[in-house]
Amino acid sequence: MNSSADMRLSSSEPADTGTQQIRDALRDAIIERRLAPGTKLSESDVGDLFNVSRTLARAALQALAYEGLVNVERNRGAFVAYPSPDEARQIFAARRLIEPGILKSAAERIAPAQLRQLRQLLAEEARLMSERGQSARRAEIKASGDFHLMLASISGNLIMQRFMEELVARSSLVIALYGQSSTSSCGHSEHADIISALERQDVDTACALMLHHIEHIEADLDLRERKSFDLKEAFQR
Ligand SMILES: [Zn+2]
Repeated sequence: MNSSADMRLSSSEPADTGTQQIRDALRDAIIERRLAPGTKLSESDVGDLFNVSRTLARAALQALAYEGLVNVERNRGAFVAYPSPDEARQIFAARRLIEPGILKSAAERIAPAQLRQLRQLLAEEARLMSERGQSARRAEIKASGDFHLMLASISGNLIMQRFMEELVARSSLVIALYGQSSTSSCGHSEHADIISALERQDVDTACALMLHHIEHIEADLDLRERKSFDLKEAFQR
C-alpha cells in the first residue's frame, strides 16, 4: 500500500476482506518500521485512516494481537508490540529451529523458475540498498524479509508460511528496538550464499548458512536496553 487512498475500502466490501486488508497494511507498516514499537493504535484512528467502522478496525487489531504484533491493554487500547529482550531471544530461537526445516522442504520442491525468482529478489534488494532515502530503505527491509518468506512459500507448508510471516514481522520489531547497525538486518552475501547452495542442491550447507545468518542478525542486537521513539515521528509517512 503506497498511499492512504489505496487503503480506503468501499463499505460494500465483505467485512473479512476489509479486516484482512487493514491487518496486512498495518503489518507492512510495522515490518517496514513506519509504525514504531509502542505506537498507540486507537480503533477510531485506524477506522478513519482506512475509512471503515471501528468494529472492523477492532477486528484487524485483534488479528494482529494474535500474531504478537499488537498488544491490547484493558482500558488503554491497542499498541504496536514492544517486545522484551526475552521475547526477542525467543523469536530468534524459534527461527533457528524452523528455518532449516523450511529450507529442507524448499530444497526438495524448488524449481529452476523459483531459483530465478529468489535471484531476482536479491538483485532488487541490492538495487534498493544502493539507493538513498527512507522509502528505499523501507523497501529494502521488506525485501530482506521477503527472502525468508519466499523460501517458506516454496516449502509448500501453509502453516509454516504463516508462522514465518509472524516471525519475520516480529523480528522486524525487535530489530527496530534493539538493532545496532543502520545497515540491512539481512546480509546480502549471506542470502546469495544460501541460494548458491540450493542451486548446487547442497542442502546441508544451505542449512548451516541459514543458521549462521540468523545468528548474525541476532548478534547485531543489543538486548540490554531499548531505544525510545518519538510517537509523532512514527506516524509520519
Ligand atoms: Zn535474511
